[in-house]
Amino acid sequence: MPAAEVTLDDLLNELRAQRPDADIALIERAYAFADAAHKGQLRMSGEPYITHPLHTAYHLVEMHATDPIIVAGLLHDVAEDTPVTLDQIKEEFGEDVANICNGICKVGKIKYRGVQRYVENLRKMFLAMASDVRVIIVKFADRLHNLETLESIPQKKAYRIALESLEIYAPIANRLGMGEIKGRLEDAAFKYVMPKEFEWVKQISEQSMRNQAPHIQKVIDKAREELTASGVSFVDVHGRRKQLYSLYLKLLKHDRDISKIYDLTAIRVIVPSIADCYAALGVVHSKWTPLKGRIKDYISQPKPNGYQSLHTTVFYDRGAIVEFQFRTAEMHEKAEFGIAAHWKYDDDKGKKETALRVKQILDAKELEWMEQLVTTQSAIKQPKEFLKTLEELKLDVFKDRIFVYTPKGDVIELPEESTPIDFAYAIHTDIGNKCAAAKVNDTIHPLDMPLKSGDIVEVVVDKNRKGPNPDWLKFAKTRHAKSKIRQFARITIADWIKAAIPSPLRKKT
Ligand code: MN
Repeated sequence: MPAAEVTLDDLLNELRAQRPDADIALIERAYAFADAAHKGQLRMSGEPYITHPLHTAYHLVEMHATDPIIVAGLLHDVAEDTPVTLDQIKEEFGEDVANICNGICKVGKIKYRGVQRYVENLRKMFLAMASDVRVIIVKFADRLHNLETLESIPQKKAYRIALESLEIYAPIANRLGMGEIKGRLEDAAFKYVMPKEFEWVKQISEQSMRNQAPHIQKVIDKAREELTASGVSFVDVHGRRKQLYSLYLKLLKHDRDISKIYDLTAIRVIVPSIADCYAALGVVHSKWTPLKGRIKDYISQPKPNGYQSLHTTVFYDRGAIVEFQFRTAEMHEKAEFGIAAHWKYDDDKGKKETALRVKQILDAKELEWMEQLVTTQSAIKQPKEFLKTLEELKLDVFKDRIFVYTPKGDVIELPEESTPIDFAYAIHTDIGNKCAAAKVNDTIHPLDMPLKSGDIVEVVVDKNRKGPNPDWLKFAKTRHAKSKIRQFARITIADWIKAAIPSPLRKKT
């Protein structure tokens, strides 16, 4: 259903169909609360503001999120944009929901300045400031609806929001195993970041779909027949078209030649058990000839983001090929909704797997983000006691780091409690040595006062300054700044000795 047409009833119906135990009264209460708080406010498009939290919550339902997450989705802009306070939310909906809302406010304050080489730091900052995974899930739904309504936003701002989604949000969704939302964020952003490429990919995708679709449907029908005849049980067999942005990236890798893309449409076979995955693969291979070297067993060797499925590519007709994917219903759910779906599996196994995903994100602090992608299953098996309950999951490994900006928008990562002196030395030794004062967010800021994440820091340099003040050692936090200050002090003493004592008398050291 196109998001633009969603009503509260649609949301509730979808929720009832999904989870009979959903707390409908609670969701209705949250909607009424948000509606009252946003009363009279309009979006840029001219629609009543409540349409935005409503669609955000609807996306959360689509992502199979739990009740507190959906409530937080409805309330996510209340504390930020209305006179209602977090305390009032807490009073009405409890501490848990209020905490998620607070996290959303914090993450919303991260400013993206489009400095490519610092995208990695921005991703870290995002994760650091979202102390609860559920905050990120709401933020994805919020962002998706904003992308869907970019038309009413001035072009330059729309481009920035779209680029930020492509560079920061989508990769985080991918790492969290949220394939469905990753694809939707990418496709919605793609259109605004690279409009020409978007149109090109859309056209060739649609054209080859027109050619392929009738044949693919025949293969799907035949596969159902064969599986039934062989006594292999299955839940569903359906076709899935490749998302546009991921098709675009693949086309770039293959000389822009669509005939080299084998998974433009994949046929998904959803089965009850892992054994059925392999049995169904056998049935398909006995009917259609597989391409050599195209069988991928992501069940025994899951991808680092947790993705599990069995893939094969077969010839189905006069040299035409199609990819089959076999997976259990649970694997399917997790491939689509990733960490958001893990909450549904509120048993030890589900908890363990969620902990695992979060652990992977945390590990990325040590290993580079991309390197992490080659981590294999064996490395993931240990952290079973990582955290006891899902609700306690915190991404607080970054809690001792802050991320601040230079006036040009470069991101500098520092330990918590760092001061403008640490910042100055992180930029350049000379800037540190000649630091006279600091402005933080355009206001003069004492040199010994700690910085906060998101601060924009400008060092005021005094060219005539001889060197650092040894007193800075009392509050400099980084080893780098301290060693530079000490080093300068040593040089000064050496220079003083040199000046005071004629050189022939000096001992060689
Ligand atoms: Mn919002």
